[in-house]
Amino acid sequence: MKDPVYVILLAGGSGSRMGAGINKVLLPLGGTPCIARSAEIFRAFADRMVLVCRPEESEAIQKAIRPLSLPFPVDFVPGGDTRQQSVANGLSALPSDGESAAMVLVHDGARCLADPALVSRVLADVTVFGSGVASVGVTDTVKETDLSGFVSRTIDRSSLRAVQTPQGFRLKDLRFAHEKAAEDGFEGTDDAALMEHAGYPVHLSEGSRRNLKLTTKEDLIMAEAFLADDSPLPPYRVGMGYDVHRLTEGRKLILCGVEVPYSLGLLGHSDADVALHALMDALLGAAGLWDIGHHFPDTDARYKGISSMLLLDQVLEALREKGFVPSNVDLTIVAQQPKLSPYIPRMVENLSRALSLPADRVNVKATTTEHLGFEGRGEGISAQAVCMIRQI
Ligand code: MG
Repeated sequence: MKDPVYVILLAGGSGSRMGAGINKVLLPLGGTPCIARSAEIFRAFADRMVLVCRPEESEAIQKAIRPLSLPFPVDFVPGGDTRQQSVANGLSALPSDGESAAMVLVHDGARCLADPALVSRVLADVTVFGSGVASVGVTDTVKETDLSGFVSRTIDRSSLRAVQTPQGFRLKDLRFAHEKAAEDGFEGTDDAALMEHAGYPVHLSEGSRRNLKLTTKEDLIMAEAFLADDSPLPPYRVGMGYDVHRLTEGRKLILCGVEVPYSLGLLGHSDADVALHALMDALLGAAGLWDIGHHFPDTDARYKGISSMLLLDQVLEALREKGFVPSNVDLTIVAQQPKLSPYIPRMVENLSRALSLPADRVNVKATTTEHLGFEGRGEGISAQAVCMIRQI
C-alpha cells in the first residue's frame, strides 16, 4: 500500500507587500483565485490537506476552493504568529500515524504556479532520501554587505540554491524537528532549516523557475504572463455572416459572382450579391474586422454597382494583413425562385479560385422555405455563411 501523503497549505499571509488590500492568496490569477490553483496542484497526490489560514478568512478560502471538488478531505486550521507556528498548527491537525511512513508536503499558498511534475519529483525524493525540497540554482551573483552599502565579500554562487516549496518529509521526522525547534527556541524561515537543526540530512529536489512566490505586484504580472503562455488561443477562428436583399425588376441576379438568368434581380448599392455579402461578413467577423458596411459604406460612390467579387478580394487582403487565410467556407442561399442547383458548380469554382481553396473546402447550398416568409413569397433572397480562418 502506498504511504499516505498529507499536504499543509499555508494561506495565512497578509499581502501587505502586494498592496492589494486582501490576502494575496485570494487574488484571481487568470480568473482563478491563487489559493485554488495552489490546492489543485496536489489533486493527484494528496490523501488529506490541511489549509492553514486566518479564521476570519477561512470562509473566503473555502469558497475559493469549493469549485475544485477535491477528491480528499480539506481541514481548516488557524495560522500562528510565525510561519513556523502555522506549520506546527498544521502538523497537529494531521493523524498520528504511528510507525507508518506517512509523508507530508508543506507548500506556500502563494506559490500557485508549482506544477504536478514538481510535486512528483519532491515525493520521489522523499521516498528515496527521506526529504525533498524544491530548489533552483542562483543566477544572480550574490554579495554579502557590511550593511553600510559596501560589499564585504562575493559568495561563490556555484554551490548556492534558492529554496522554494513544496518541501517534503516523513511526517514523523518533521514532527520531531518542530518539537526540537520549539524546545531549543530555534526559529527557521522554512521547514528544511528545522530539519537541518534537528540533524536530518535534507535533500534538494529540482524546483522550477516558474514557481514564483507571489509577493510583489511584479510577481503578479509575471504569473499572469506564465499563465497566458500556458494556454495560447487556438490559431483557428470561426465567423458567421447573414444578409438579405430585395428582389426587383430591372436588375441582374448575381450570386457568388455568377449571373443567374431570372426575371428579377437583387436591389442594392453594389451588385447586391447577397451570398458574397454573407460570406464577407463571416470572414471579417472571424478575423475581428467588423463587417462589410464598415469597410464598404453604401454612401461611398466607389462601390456603386461594383462586383462583390472585387470586394471579396479586398476582404481577403484585409485578412492577410492581419495574418489570416480562409480554411473552409460554407454558404446557404435561401430563395424560393429561381432554381439554383444548376449554377452551384460555377459558384464553387468562383469562390475556390478567389479564396485560393480546394473546391472541397468551399460549399454552397441552396434551399427554399416552402413558400414561407419573404423568401418564400419571392420578395427577396437571404444568405448565410460560416467560415473558418487560420493564422498564417
Ligand atoms: Mg448586402
